[in-house]
Amino acid sequence: MPLTILDHPLAGDLLTVLRRADTEPPEFRQTAERLGYLLVAEALSDMPADEVDIRTPLEDMKGHHLHRPVVAVAVLRAGLGLLESVLTLVPDAAIGFAGVQRNEQTAEPMEYYTRFPPLDRARVLILEPMLATGGSLSWAIDKVKENGARDITAVCVVTAPTGVKKMEADHPEVRIVAAALDRELDDNFYIRPGLGDMGDRLFGTL
Ligand code: URA
Repeated sequence: MPLTILDHPLAGDLLTVLRRADTEPPEFRQTAERLGYLLVAEALSDMPADEVDIRTPLEDMKGHHLHRPVVAVAVLRAGLGLLESVLTLVPDAAIGFAGVQRNEQTAEPMEYYTRFPPLDRARVLILEPMLATGGSLSWAIDKVKENGARDITAVCVVTAPTGVKKMEADHPEVRIVAAALDRELDDNFYIRPGLGDMGDRLFGTL
């Protein structure tokens, strides 16, 4: 399973803002969206393109179009923090939702809502900012595969070795694009050093 960690000073700068405990939700949301542009651009970097004939104001030339439609599947709720990034870069992307809640005792995923557009011809970007145990992401990928997805890339902000190993075991062909691979999970399944609870930090809940 290919894991790509963004190697870009801007990604490091933006991730540092997200990690800081004193970053308030408005700045956190805006920064997550900005970092999302870099992550989504990387997640689409191997996308096939078709040649199209176009005319500039000066002459005819060959241009390019993405070969496949893009579908973004936000793993609720933290995945919503990366959704605008996809829609800004690919305005005609279709959107799906994978509602899964972590059982706080076992860290196992519990489904509460799923809704997907057609997935079989699309590049499916699963938006799961915090790859901790990997339970939610692996579950979401099972779901999109059951619904026909064949070309899947996971877009994460921070990953942990436990989650990466689970992905290697469960979905070895799925590429993961992330801004960081952190040290470990703590006893409450939080990523360390991490950035805390992504959903709480995006939406100001406690
Ligand atoms: N989910 C989060 O939001 N943060 C973590 O550190 C782990 C899972």
